[in-house]
Amino acid sequence: MASLRQLLQAGSLVRSCARLQSTVPYPSATKAAASVKSGICFDLTDEQKEMQQLARKFAREEILPKAAEHDRTMEYPWEIIKQSWELGLMNPHIPVDVGGMGLGTFDGCLITEEIAYACSGIQTAMEANNLGQMPVILAGNADQKKKYLGRLTEEPLICAYGVTEPGAGSDVSGIRTRAERKGDEYVINGQKMWITNGGVASWYFLLARTNSDPNCPSSKAFTGFIVDGDSPGLTKGRKEINMGQRCANTSGFTLEDVVVPKENVLLGEGEGFKIAMGAFDHTRPPVAAGAVGLSQRALDEATKYSLERKTFGTQIANHQAISFMLAEMAMETELGRLAWMRAAWEVDQGRRNTYFASIAKGFAGDAANRAAANAVQIFGGNGFNTEYPVEKLMRDAKIYQIYEGTAQIQRLIIAREHLSRAKMGLL
Ligand SMILES: Cc1cc2nc3c(=O)[nH]c(=O)nc-3n(C[C@H](O)[C@H](O)[C@H](O)COP(=O)(O)OP(=O)(O)OC[C@H]3O[C@@H](n4cnc5c(N)ncnc54)[C@H](O)[C@@H]3O)c2cc1C
Repeated sequence: MASLRQLLQAGSLVRSCARLQSTVPYPSATKAAASVKSGICFDLTDEQKEMQQLARKFAREEILPKAAEHDRTMEYPWEIIKQSWELGLMNPHIPVDVGGMGLGTFDGCLITEEIAYACSGIQTAMEANNLGQMPVILAGNADQKKKYLGRLTEEPLICAYGVTEPGAGSDVSGIRTRAERKGDEYVINGQKMWITNGGVASWYFLLARTNSDPNCPSSKAFTGFIVDGDSPGLTKGRKEINMGQRCANTSGFTLEDVVVPKENVLLGEGEGFKIAMGAFDHTRPPVAAGAVGLSQRALDEATKYSLERKTFGTQIANHQAISFMLAEMAMETELGRLAWMRAAWEVDQGRRNTYFASIAKGFAGDAANRAAANAVQIFGGNGFNTEYPVEKLMRDAKIYQIYEGTAQIQRLIIAREHLSRAKMGLL
């Protein structure tokens, strides 16, 4: 298989026009974008089609056949991570000047959806690297990018996003990990929880409180750090045993007097909250794309089964109750896809996409759960059994309503964004 990098280097293909059209040129496709005037276009570019095909072929041939075994054993998918890294399917957003491919959110989502179709646990393991990197991509200086992102282009290493704690998930401002400035260093103490790739990361984006005044606003009280995974005083916790996506690594870690040089502060003291939350505009569209991949798989499995299984002398697909379930799944899968495309496209244009990212994540997460539950229903008793693929989909789907902001938090954000526009008279 040619790697993604080879496809991009072939250079015969353009990367623009794909999305719903561009007014601001995509970074590496200025020439192509210049020829795009206006209007809607739902066609992928040839280059994006190749990217999608590469991810699809790899996902269906290399990941899908191993998904059930990884689910059973909960073994971290190192081999698949290494293969994906070789093919350029990991870390697509690392900038070109530090050795990456510099792909936008839309292109990354195309890959994510394909991987999730095969196994969303493996997709989460891969995607969490993008989440860990995003604060550095968005807020890192040249040295930080070179050192920490560059490292990920040299070998298949893992990083993680360390914000949640035992006492604070949705309410990020409640985190208690403290970083105290001592000369040219910070000393960090605290505990992180539920961190994807937390047990296997070579470095973390870490959010810690640097202002002890309880009245200090969140926008100034926290600082974002890059913390090496092998820092003395940093202890990685056990792998959590989760309901679904079981081969992904979810772990906590503790920090006891972990010393971090001031060079590892992102942007500056007090800037952490904005960095941590701002990353979600780029990482929620791929969460939505992952959920859509799972929905598509549920629909495809249920459709095949409904054309094979017969009751009352006919294929169950011929019972209207079943075909309507398939229709619901089809509608929501297509709408979830449109939603991630819009959210990803907006942010690739350099526009604030918070509203669209939450709509995509909220809708696609809920839709994946409905699709997986419907698939189990269509499989009847077989759907409840581990010999068939759909019970895993139902377990795996649940996390899409929890991580990167729960289903309820997405609604809070959508309502806030909507009402603030209304109050400004922008409706
Ligand atoms: C498998 C897994 C992987 C994860 N990966 C990461 C990671 O890589 N990095 C990281 O930092 N974190 C990660 N998380 C943490 C995840 O983001 C949090 O679990 C999530 O944000 C919810 O926080 P919580 O668990 O503390 O629940 P809580 O915040 O305690 O919420 C409990 C319930 O209350 C609801 N709720 C809370 N506040 C409100 C409100 N204002 N209005 C209405 N309802 C509300 C929630 O929606 C939820 O239903 C992961 C979690 C899991 C399970």
